[in-house]
Amino acid sequence: MTSPDAKTRFKARTRAWAQKLDVEVVSITVRPLTTKWASCSSTGRLTFDTRVPNLARGLQDCVIVHELLHFSIPNHGPLWKSLMRAHLGDYEKCEAWLRLVAGEQALNDTSRRVPPQPS
Ligand SMILES: [Zn+2]
Repeated sequence: MTSPDAKTRFKARTRAWAQKLDVEVVSITVRPLTTKWASCSSTGRLTFDTRVPNLARGLQDCVIVHELLHFSIPNHGPLWKSLMRAHLGDYEKCEAWLRLVAGEQALNDTSRRVPPQPS
């Protein structure tokens, strides 16, 4: 379960990153996503899985920045990678952790057939 406090703090964290990256976010929604950690729309709407606010802060940042960068870069090409590295350092380690956490949770939850990954 995600407490209302964790959710509020997480949204504030997301807005702080959006400001830092100069990205205009229209809405931030936290709800259960079955196959991934987060998604974003070209209209500035962000959706995060309910588990994200409970992740370690470094992992939250990884998911947040991943999605915010997609507002200007819709792929995972060299520019996206260099910006991820500039803001998060060794982000690949974070993404490996996220896959690991997703895999473990998938083992404990048969309704999640596909391990969630950042979109
Ligand atoms: Zn992505």
